[in-house]
Amino acid sequence: MMKINVITIFPDVMENILSMGMLGVASKKSLVTYNVVNLRDFAKDKHRTVDDEPYGGGGGMIMMVTPIVEAVEHIEPSQDSPVILLSPAGERFDQSLAHRYASCEELTFICGRYKGVDERVRKMVVTEEVSIGDFVLSGGELAAGACIEAIVRLKDEVLGNEDTRDTDSFEKDRDYILDCAYYTRPEEYRGHRVPEVLVSGNHKEIEKWRKMSSLRRTEKLRPDLLKRKS
Ligand code: SAM
Repeated sequence: MMKINVITIFPDVMENILSMGMLGVASKKSLVTYNVVNLRDFAKDKHRTVDDEPYGGGGGMIMMVTPIVEAVEHIEPSQDSPVILLSPAGERFDQSLAHRYASCEELTFICGRYKGVDERVRKMVVTEEVSIGDFVLSGGELAAGACIEAIVRLKDEVLGNEDTRDTDSFEKDRDYILDCAYYTRPEEYRGHRVPEVLVSGNHKEIEKWRKMSSLRRTEKLRPDLLKRKS
């Protein structure tokens, strides 16, 4: 069973995210186990402080090295398993990274807050740094949640039939192109009809239409993916 550790100052938020939808289903099916660690349990004072002012001055607070390193030591991540710092400066998280992490037995995520973490955390415990995009959140919890959801849904048996991933966007096997357009009932809504072929029952033609739809959407919305393919 895959083990996912998350170090955070907001364990309740993280527990909620991890009990939601298929993330919760995955743990109920014993496909994954979550271990949410409250960073404040590793603070050294009665106020459970985990941040301090930066050396050299300037605004903002920095997450201290001691509680983070000791939280990781308490977890004892298995040898060679990724210890991932969420950070806007990290490698961009994408579907191929999600696949790599999905093949790991154990993952440990460190959620930053404030101005970020003491640089020594990177040297002492972090093995990889991951960003979910070129923007700045106030903390790593939502970023960790996004990564974990993308990873866990790749595990076999997590998804039911209602949410198949075979045709998902960004999959290498389908040359990174986007998923096709979908329609459901009613067949007509305020003059907008479902494409005729989709109600024809002709599966060969439907398959052809879906491939073409994927390609057209990719050309229009993400032409960079087609360049990546060639
Ligand atoms: N001073 C940092 C910088 O400009 O690079 C930003 C710190 S941010 C306010 C606080 C924490 O939120 C970070 O330590 C990180 O854990 C998380 N975070 C913010 N944006 C993120 C992103 N795009 N991807 C992943 N984590 C992010």
